[in-house]
Amino acid sequence: MNKKKTILVTGATGAQGGSVAWVLLGQDKFKVRVLTRDTSSPKAIELERAGAELVYGDLNKPDTLVNAMQDCYGVYGVTNYWEHYDKEFQQGRNLVNAVKKTDIKHFVLHTLPSYSILSEGKYPTPHCDIKAQLQLYTISQSIPATFLQVAFYYENFLNYFPLIRHDDGSYHFGFPQGDTRLAMVSVEDVGGMVAAIFDHPKEYTGRVVGAVGADETCETYAAILSNVLGKAVCYDYIPREQYAGFGFPGAEELANMFEVQRLHIKGRQLDLIESYALNPAMQSFVGWVSKHKYQFLAAMNNGEQVLI
Ligand code: NAP
Repeated sequence: MNKKKTILVTGATGAQGGSVAWVLLGQDKFKVRVLTRDTSSPKAIELERAGAELVYGDLNKPDTLVNAMQDCYGVYGVTNYWEHYDKEFQQGRNLVNAVKKTDIKHFVLHTLPSYSILSEGKYPTPHCDIKAQLQLYTISQSIPATFLQVAFYYENFLNYFPLIRHDDGSYHFGFPQGDTRLAMVSVEDVGGMVAAIFDHPKEYTGRVVGAVGADETCETYAAILSNVLGKAVCYDYIPREQYAGFGFPGAEELANMFEVQRLHIKGRQLDLIESYALNPAMQSFVGWVSKHKYQFLAAMNNGEQVLI
């Protein structure tokens, strides 16, 4: 009988790694080991109950990573800029070094393009630039790897970018994205793509893949939100300088991110096509908003902001 290979999933108690871990557990082709700083957290316990093996590990502590990877065939790696900021770079290096040391056969790492390079140094965007450096570092170590560049989550409409109610009863969201297409994806769908990539190591080793479920303009997303929610939802173009001045943590960085996308990333249609080929269950934006319609509406009825 064939012994199942083990895949270590980092970030499995979070959105992206969670999507990967749950899909792999559901498919039951690989054993799933979960790396977490807290093996007693409710999310970790839930994964354990579904069949995952929990292992303590911290991206700041290289030995814990090497230990967690013992006897693993594959690793899914995701680092979290928004919790650790510039420390993400060293944490990512620790992860890559452990992968190298334990001779992992297939490493799938979440990365992003360097927005600094795309804008010729004009708009540094560390959460993207660091991940691009980690991609280069992984390549420099000759690790058999696939890089997954995940687009802006649909879920941001539920978590971080509230629809604002105006006096006339309409709802608004705004970015410095202009009328350039904004690639997005449901983070729930990342897992299906990663599972397909682990199923095809020969085809996907050395590849950079984009995870994209929709690639439309913000005007189109506003029209979809209006149609599905039955309320007027408008997109406002907010210029980079204005957005950067909003003062919330990360405002300037996000302003730069949208500005680079507006100026330098005109569309991601090929990534969209490949994403649906890898994961036929990818959700369109209209499908995803429809699924979450009552969550949107409940929040809209509760006050000024839609914290979805
Ligand atoms: P998340 O839901 O906040 O989850 C973060 C995960 O990281 C948790 O599972 C946590 O595990 C783990 N983690 C954090 N620090 C760790 C450490 N020191 N050692 C080990 N594990 C650690 O975040 P996410 O959305 O899945 O992923 C965040 C990343 O996605 C960011 O870097 C961001 O740039 C990128 N991203 C975001 C978007 C977007 O639109 N939001 C789009 C593309 C890419 P424990 O707490 O259990 O240890």
